[in-house]
Amino acid sequence: MFKTVRGMRDLLPKSAQKMRHIERVARDVSKLYGYEEIITPVLESYELLAAKTSEEIRDRMYKFEDLGGRKVAMRPEFTASVARLVVNKLKNEPKPMRLFSTGSLYRYDEPQYGRFREFWQANYELFGSTRPEADAEILMLTNNVLKNLGLKNYRFKVGHSGILLGILTQEGLDDQQQNSVRQLLDKKEWNEALTVAKKVGVSKNGLEVLTSILEMMGEDPWEDLVQIKKRVQDYSTAVEAVNNLQKIVKLVQDSGEQLELQVEAGFARGLEYYTGMIFETYVPGLDIAIGGGGRYDKLIELFGGEPIPAVGVAQGIDRIVLALTKQKAAPKTPKQKTAAVIAIKPICMGKALEISAMLRKKGVFVELAVMGRSIRSALSDANRREVDYAVILGPKELKENMVVLKNMKKEEQRTVSIDSLVQEILAASS
Ligand code: AMP
Repeated sequence: MFKTVRGMRDLLPKSAQKMRHIERVARDVSKLYGYEEIITPVLESYELLAAKTSEEIRDRMYKFEDLGGRKVAMRPEFTASVARLVVNKLKNEPKPMRLFSTGSLYRYDEPQYGRFREFWQANYELFGSTRPEADAEILMLTNNVLKNLGLKNYRFKVGHSGILLGILTQEGLDDQQQNSVRQLLDKKEWNEALTVAKKVGVSKNGLEVLTSILEMMGEDPWEDLVQIKKRVQDYSTAVEAVNNLQKIVKLVQDSGEQLELQVEAGFARGLEYYTGMIFETYVPGLDIAIGGGGRYDKLIELFGGEPIPAVGVAQGIDRIVLALTKQKAAPKTPKQKTAAVIAIKPICMGKALEISAMLRKKGVFVELAVMGRSIRSALSDANRREVDYAVILGPKELKENMVVLKNMKKEEQRTVSIDSLVQEILAASS
């Protein structure tokens, strides 16, 4: 028997429904904020995908040579594909440009709870603005998605890549040295990060400042930012970064929306291309991020385009499913009426198809009995499938333009005219 490849999953109806629901809500929110959907290929050139991602992701790409000898890979994130479009086909689009994409991504991670080799994201990117309101919009939009899905008690871990960058650059570290420190910080291996920082030449003062801001984890984001600014005062770029984060936090707070923000100065998201605000979202009881994003103002020019600032977020659809399941939050979808249409005799089948089409046209979800079963077993199947109604067609009733309508939950049935069938089904409370 064939099995799925390790790390790959089949999404059976209930799971697929949850995933698609989240995708739908994410798409609705993209429209509410003016993000236009684009669809890019799963397969891209390896060069493109490897160009500007983190070493960690680069090493875990599914890459191979296609039959034409091209070196290709399955996308591990959306940003490279979107950047390719922005420097190319979308080059002359007026700014701001807001783009939404959703689909599957591939990383050869070690499979574990909440970590899959094929996973899904809803991705939003805003191009053209360096202003804090653009960053605030990405935070608010993320809040909107999670709130509309019915998630509760989620929080935003917020930082700014300029804080560490400012300190480490002024301390004379090159990009590679900075990345090695940032990667350890990202894994919360703070002692190791400080040891490496010391080894590559960070001064005593630098180490003290780093230690003092890593330890901070207050309740009030505003107060935390004031404190962090004091502690990094010797590093002018880091101070600028805190100023920028203060503006963003203030805008979010002024909006009146209640976002639970937690500032972490030592926060260094895995992807190396971030240049400004960075954040991740979490729910209680799940210690992996359900989404993350930030500002990346230099990425587009690194892909060969004009410099275009950008800020974006990726919502992790699979992990949001886990979070919703944990919180027992049911999707808030309007209940659709469902019916099974059963022809008692083959001679009634043409009419059964016609009635099914008529009901579907009015928005009733119809399952036609296609197994040629006896009426009894067709009804028991309809029951198992939890449909609201069975519409039973027999030759005798059909002669009078009637059918039998059975309310499955109430176990009541009566004969109704075909003309009033739609009305009967839609009007009744099932
Ligand atoms: P990243 O692109 O790494 O910033 O990830 C953004 C979001 O995608 C994360 O916060 C997760 O919710 C989700 N994600 C990333 N990697 C995986 C994975 N291997 N399996 C499931 N979800 C993932």
